[in-house]
Amino acid sequence: MRYYSTNHQADDATLREAVERGLAPDRGLYMPQETKQLPASFFEHIDELSFQEIAFEVAKAFFGDDVDEASLKHIVYDTLAFETPVVPVTDNIYSLELFHGPTLAFKDVGARFMARLLQYFIKKDGLDNEQVNVLVATSGDTGSAVANGFLGVDGIHVYVLYPKGKVSRIQESQFTTLGRNITALEVDGVFDDCQALVKNAFMDSELNAHMTLTSANSINVARFLPQAFYYFNAYAQLKRDGKLSYDAEGKSNMVVCVPSGNFGNITAGLFAARMGLPVKHFIAANNANDIFYNYLQTGEYHPMPSKQTLANAMDVGDPSNFARILALYDSNWEAIRADISGATYPDPRIRETMKACHESTGYVLDPHGACGYQALKEQLSADEVGVFLETAHPAKFKEKVDVILGTDIDIPQRLQDFMRGTKQSIELPNDFQTFKSFLMKQ
Ligand SMILES: *Cc1c(COP(=O)(O)O)cnc(C)c1O
Repeated sequence: MRYYSTNHQADDATLREAVERGLAPDRGLYMPQETKQLPASFFEHIDELSFQEIAFEVAKAFFGDDVDEASLKHIVYDTLAFETPVVPVTDNIYSLELFHGPTLAFKDVGARFMARLLQYFIKKDGLDNEQVNVLVATSGDTGSAVANGFLGVDGIHVYVLYPKGKVSRIQESQFTTLGRNITALEVDGVFDDCQALVKNAFMDSELNAHMTLTSANSINVARFLPQAFYYFNAYAQLKRDGKLSYDAEGKSNMVVCVPSGNFGNITAGLFAARMGLPVKHFIAANNANDIFYNYLQTGEYHPMPSKQTLANAMDVGDPSNFARILALYDSNWEAIRADISGATYPDPRIRETMKACHESTGYVLDPHGACGYQALKEQLSADEVGVFLETAHPAKFKEKVDVILGTDIDIPQRLQDFMRGTKQSIELPNDFQTFKSFLMKQ
């Protein structure tokens, strides 16, 4: 499979090139040239398959041209060594819990898959004894997923840049206590400064001649495409439980709602639908960062500086995967509106939602999932079944959740283990030359 750039100024790339580069040379995002339909028989019997079996079929459609079957199966089965259960919250609203992986958030899936795929390419083709270096700027969640996904993977070193003092202790412990091939860099600045340092590093020719650099955020095809797996798994579970019905055209009554920031997760869902997954409709739920919501209303896209909110992993003012959504729909606003509706919630509404849901159902939402749940509450009709993606475990935001709900929620063992580790990080000033000479010495 070849991958084209959404800016159409760069040559098409192989999968390996797309994964190793992250961004295309023309600053566009890579997209697969075709989206393979899965056969009707797959959907008829999907409820008899395990998550790993489902994901392997989907992975073959994406990556089967470029990775041999046995290796791909190994990558998929290693990535998905945990479940993504669909849990009923109300009569017709379900939570797709994506937080049963190593760092208790959905980014674990893409990060682990990308790590294993890169490792496969390095082993297969060799890289002249060079190592691949992953640079990642984080405000919390991305760094932990990437660090744990790549931990102990031969031939790859990860540098996590994070803003000193601006990341919660729980989050920090998930990428500063690992050691081995993971280096945490504590930058004296804010998240945007970390991101700028990483961007400058990718553009510095001397540095790129010295070492192979790549990124591991959702611009990378190997990180965002595998997120399609769990949409199929959600459908399989609802089908198994007899919750779905179909119209004359075979469309199901399943509405999927995705709490969105950079829109990588929902874009993976749109790919799933293109492959034949019978989703009736998508909802993109936003916090106060309402750029996409406004685009749906007006047809105009106005990036803005991000606003800080309770659901901070969605604090994005210029969603990087918007370019992919435009590419999927040939920039046709009407067509995008026909498939996706929007929602936007300021912090007080997120708090109200978490409280109301907890009181009436007992279910503990995290602030991100709360946006998804509330959008379904408001937009679902009586004949539909709604699934929202619960993108992180509420314990990752324990300080906030306990204050809002008046609870003392349990911290899962896995998080406690991270918090017992010893912090190892290197302090850096917010200065590109210092960062560059640090990398040049590696
Ligand atoms: C990253 C993240 C999101 C946003 O996902 P996108 O793919 O950027 O839209 C939502 N919730 C949580 C908990 C996240 O970590």
